[in-house]
Amino acid sequence: MSFSQKTKNELARIIPKDKCCQLAELAALIRMDGSIHISADHHMSLGIETQNAAVARKMYFLGKTLFNLKEEVSVRRNNRLRKNVIYSVKMVPQPGTKKALDKLGIDFTPAGYKIHWNSELVKKRCCQKAYLRGAFLGGGSISNPEQKTYHLEIITSDSFNDELISELMRNFNIEPKTTWRKKAHVIYLKDSEMIVDFLNVVGAHSALLNFENIRVHKDVRNRVNRIVNCETANLNKTVEAGLKQVETIRYLERSIGLENLPVGLKEIARARLENPEVSLKELGETMEPPLSKSGVNHRMRRLKRIADKLRGKSS
Ligand SMILES: [Zn+2]
Repeated sequence: MSFSQKTKNELARIIPKDKCCQLAELAALIRMDGSIHISADHHMSLGIETQNAAVARKMYFLGKTLFNLKEEVSVRRNNRLRKNVIYSVKMVPQPGTKKALDKLGIDFTPAGYKIHWNSELVKKRCCQKAYLRGAFLGGGSISNPEQKTYHLEIITSDSFNDELISELMRNFNIEPKTTWRKKAHVIYLKDSEMIVDFLNVVGAHSALLNFENIRVHKDVRNRVNRIVNCETANLNKTVEAGLKQVETIRYLERSIGLENLPVGLKEIARARLENPEVSLKELGETMEPPLSKSGVNHRMRRLKRIADKLRGKSS
């Protein structure tokens, strides 16, 4: 099961205890996944469709507890993606529908319906959290934190809802970014701290713990990789410097012979030919008596100056 699905299952099992929050969450689910059907005799039914069984159950439960509505649940296969199953929960036409819809911010007249916004729904902080949870359940996803970048998003087709979700997130100091994809508004978070804050606000506590664990592991792994990379780079530098020095020494050997170098230079030249890959410090340690890194460096520079002079370059 994907990280996203696990998170949704966890959230779907949370049933807010207060009626105000139940209403806010149901309103969010309907805004995200709902559709309204009007029959020939002007009766309206409201339904939602979801791929998540737990979300369908929650919708059903909320409709029943809040409004005692008669609901129908059906399951079908998604024709395009055969593997997926789609659950639909429908509040069939019945006397209480209009009142329920009114509370959820949907106006219905025989001429049609329009969505108005009942700002009472998300006035309280508890209800704002519930609305965000509903919005994530209805149109959200989160990428596996093992992946290279962190990503949480909520997709909605309605621009009012887009602004509302962003605003509610900002109420909890979460700063979302928004973009536009395939005619839909996408509200997303890339910052891992903000994703953690969001999971906390909506109450996805086990998802949060898993996310944090993976994040810590990943950080440690990244740090180790950085150190290894850095050491590899240093190692390459050391080896390349050593090889250049060997080249200089070979040149001196061919042109004037190492015998004709001052004794200190002759010793360091021989030591380098025997240990082409070691660092200057390690090379100094092979000397008898040992020589400091700067001492080795100084002699290497002298060797190079002599070679440059012989090659006709000025140093
Ligand atoms: Zn509430």
